[in-house]
Amino acid sequence: MLNPNEVLSARDAFFRHVALTSDAPMGIEIDYAEGPFFYDTNGRRYTDFISGIAVSTLGHRHPVVLDALRSQLDRHLHVMVYGEFIQRPQSDFARLLTSVLPESLDRIYFVNSGTEANEGALKLAKKHTGRSKLIAFRNSYHGDTHGSLSVTGRDVYRDPYLPLLPDVHFFDFNDPAVFEAFDSETAAVILEPIQGEGGIIPAKKAWLQSVREACTKAGACLIFDEIQSGFGRTGRLFAFEHYGVVPDILCMAKAMGGGMPVGGFAASSRLFEAFMYDPPLNHVTTFGGHPMSCAAGHAALQFTLENKLWERAPSIEKQIREGLDLPGVVEIRGRGAMLGLVLPDFDTTRAVVERCLAHGLLLGWTLHSNTLVRLAPPLIIEDEVLQDAIAILRESILACQS
Ligand code: PMP
Repeated sequence: MLNPNEVLSARDAFFRHVALTSDAPMGIEIDYAEGPFFYDTNGRRYTDFISGIAVSTLGHRHPVVLDALRSQLDRHLHVMVYGEFIQRPQSDFARLLTSVLPESLDRIYFVNSGTEANEGALKLAKKHTGRSKLIAFRNSYHGDTHGSLSVTGRDVYRDPYLPLLPDVHFFDFNDPAVFEAFDSETAAVILEPIQGEGGIIPAKKAWLQSVREACTKAGACLIFDEIQSGFGRTGRLFAFEHYGVVPDILCMAKAMGGGMPVGGFAASSRLFEAFMYDPPLNHVTTFGGHPMSCAAGHAALQFTLENKLWERAPSIEKQIREGLDLPGVVEIRGRGAMLGLVLPDFDTTRAVVERCLAHGLLLGWTLHSNTLVRLAPPLIIEDEVLQDAIAILRESILACQS
């Protein structure tokens, strides 16, 4: 038996008792975080250029989020499973969010995470259509629970868990070949308007518009996974606004809670009837839309809207593109503050990421690519901090050229 009185450092406890997801975690011990920075327990400051993977769009511990949390803390925490009681933070957040979405997306089902939003969206599409066939794309990433993994297009992550959901059909992203797959059995198409983990790959506008038309014609639901691209990151509140295409179901999470865990999927009242009847309570969650998370999310969204935070994204993109127009940079892909820097090979990419970290700049990878550096700073980042980060990147790219 373990001795509960044995004093362990946080580091030792982490490495001995927290389940790890790789044998080489970064292992930075966090002391505190504020704005675009976080600090480790040695007093080192880091600029966060990945925003906790597209979460901290408002930076860390934004004052409006902290105020909302404090005031909710004095009212109530969890009281009842999702969907039974009227809880003001949930209702207010749903009201505000639907007010800025297209009219057809007039309800939100709150969950706890991104993958759970996708799970719910897939179930909603299946129940609403009474069909089971799903269309998804290679190099997509939709989460690691079984349903989301079933529509994630990367075999190396899927193979250890086979069999997954049947009747999922994969196509290349942006490939018109997908149009041959639509039929009267198709329940849904799920895609990211800008693939994130696949290496920051935007959908082509005409192709996405045709996917919308094909869904409408086949009576299938179009599901957009905007878990990574949502809440201003690409220069619009949601990436679908760049395309003039409205999904039937919109999945959200990550930045949605201003740093607190919450996800959700939006759809029409008509679609959501599928969850109300035959039988009632056929899709429920205990913690979905936790009052603390919804209070934080509401405050974060209000701040985002009042300050039109998405308008900051094009300037961030411009500064990054100009600052990193260097020999050795193969390409910068993406939109706004959802960018991917492509370097020539894995060794250079790793060396650049490590060198930047040594200089106090946190960058990261995407799951499906090892020559692409994720650039996703908080939208509140000031020009001076942004320019300092770009200077570190420049210096590192030039120093690491082989
Ligand atoms: N979809 C997309 C596009 C994502 O980027 C992610 C997370 N990287 C997820 C789904 C899964 O979200 P979560 O980790 O909150 O389950």
